[in-house]
Amino acid sequence: MRNVQNLSDPAVIKEILSRHGFTFSKKLGQNFLINPSVCPRIAEMGNAAPGFGVIEIGPGIGVLTNELCLRAEKVVTIELDRRLLPILSETLSEHRNLKIVNADILEVDLKKLISEEFGGLKVAICANLPYYITSPVVMKLLEDRLPIETVTTMVQSEAAQRLCAPVGSRNAGAVTVAVNYYSEARRLFNVSRGSFMPSPKVDSAVIQLSIRKNTPEAANEKLFFRIVRGIFTQRRKTVLNALSGSMNISKTDAERVLSAAGTESSLRPEQLSMEQLFELCEAYEKLAGG
Ligand code: SAM
Repeated sequence: MRNVQNLSDPAVIKEILSRHGFTFSKKLGQNFLINPSVCPRIAEMGNAAPGFGVIEIGPGIGVLTNELCLRAEKVVTIELDRRLLPILSETLSEHRNLKIVNADILEVDLKKLISEEFGGLKVAICANLPYYITSPVVMKLLEDRLPIETVTTMVQSEAAQRLCAPVGSRNAGAVTVAVNYYSEARRLFNVSRGSFMPSPKVDSAVIQLSIRKNTPEAANEKLFFRIVRGIFTQRRKTVLNALSGSMNISKTDAERVLSAAGTESSLRPEQLSMEQLFELCEAYEKLAGG
């Protein structure tokens, strides 16, 4: 049987891939990890442990999956590229606590999967995400309000900066507000571009979102996120212009909303704190309607 410890060895990867006639798909964000220290760290810091079920997104040839299976009670890994299935059956054949699902992560009903596969276990999510879907995946994991403890994932360095930025700081965007609403985010460690095959053009980082048990209550959550998405698409404008432009209300009305919320109309959206965003939403609902 193949020694699965070698799945981060470029020579081993090349041999497996060429035997299966596999070529990398840029479109699917296929950059496989070849730095042997990264996957054990993701698994250990990402709650792959007894008593935990782990969902992995995008196993590739199974280098991280293997580390997860060695530590967690059970692992379900979701891979879109069906060409990888025969490879995974080979590289991970020794694991009895693994289920491989061939699906698009954005289409999977994760609530159902968790209740069917992980009864009685705590659940964590670990991934080296395909970068083209970082934001939609992160948003899906948060907005679905899954019964999970943590999301531990590799993302591009710049995405890490945005996802982990404090609300009210220069790097904050709409996704920062959403991440902060549902979780506490932190950067765990940096990973250089040379840690992947093929090597991407940018460096990466592993981040962890610890899901809040009690989310801070926005009185009207739907409206809150509509306003946040709206004003952050115009983040370089003043909050006055961004609010009026994105919510399609007059500047006079936007001014009234901001003054009722006690927010300076000359601020940029990225300068607003979570509290100010909540107040803005409440004032908008009262004065301009939901
Ligand atoms: N985990 C492996 C590693 O670290 O070497 C591979 C990571 S690679 C960056 C991303 C993986 O996600 C690839 O295997 C790719 O085929 C898969 N993938 C891409 N889009 C996907 C989707 N929508 N749903 C599930 N998997 C996807």
